[in-house]
Amino acid sequence: MNIILFGAPGAGKGTQGARLAAERRLPLLSTGDMLRAEVAAASPLGQEIQHILDAGDLVPDVTIIEVIAARLAETDCEHGFILDGFPRTLAQAVALDDMLAHMARSVDHVLVLEVDEPTLTARIAGRAAESGGPRTDDSAEIAAKRLAIYHAQSAPVVPHYEAKGLVRRVDGGRDMDAVAADIAGALDA
Ligand code: ADP
Repeated sequence: MNIILFGAPGAGKGTQGARLAAERRLPLLSTGDMLRAEVAAASPLGQEIQHILDAGDLVPDVTIIEVIAARLAETDCEHGFILDGFPRTLAQAVALDDMLAHMARSVDHVLVLEVDEPTLTARIAGRAAESGGPRTDDSAEIAAKRLAIYHAQSAPVVPHYEAKGLVRRVDGGRDMDAVAADIAGALDA
């Protein structure tokens, strides 16, 4: 099963993705985690993108597409995967569809976690307040920018997959167990 978990910053993709990955024994491909690991390791890529992550901007499409293409080619993705944080632009979605088509595969499900704006803002602020948190991009100012970028650049990914009949919307504003149950229902419907 090839799954995209989609939603705004703070929608709960990371939490639900980790759960789903354990339940379905699928690898979780979180581009945010992958990019933060590059920064932490001070790799050439990490050094190049650190300022972009800190500013809350998106890394260039070509960069992230290359990272994901390499990851999807690894053997643990053979029987499926869960994408968290990718695709985040229409160009990334088209590139993903293309690379999967070359592997004779395709996206099976796009789960859209819907959460209202005040809740998103409160969740990100809560994450920023956690002591020793690794996210330097959770400050109120940067979080607002990430939400604006989500609406402008990422939201168009939904109609792209809606046209293919792959989108299932889940109310992500409830407690974790209720959201997980809805996700399971959407996948097994
Ligand atoms: P969130 O979902 O809370 O915004 P992520 O952990 O998914 O956070 O992403 C953190 C940062 O990593 C983003 O603000 C962006 O700079 C970068 N990033 C992650 N995925 C992508 C992507 N697909 N395209 C471009 N940049 C990305």
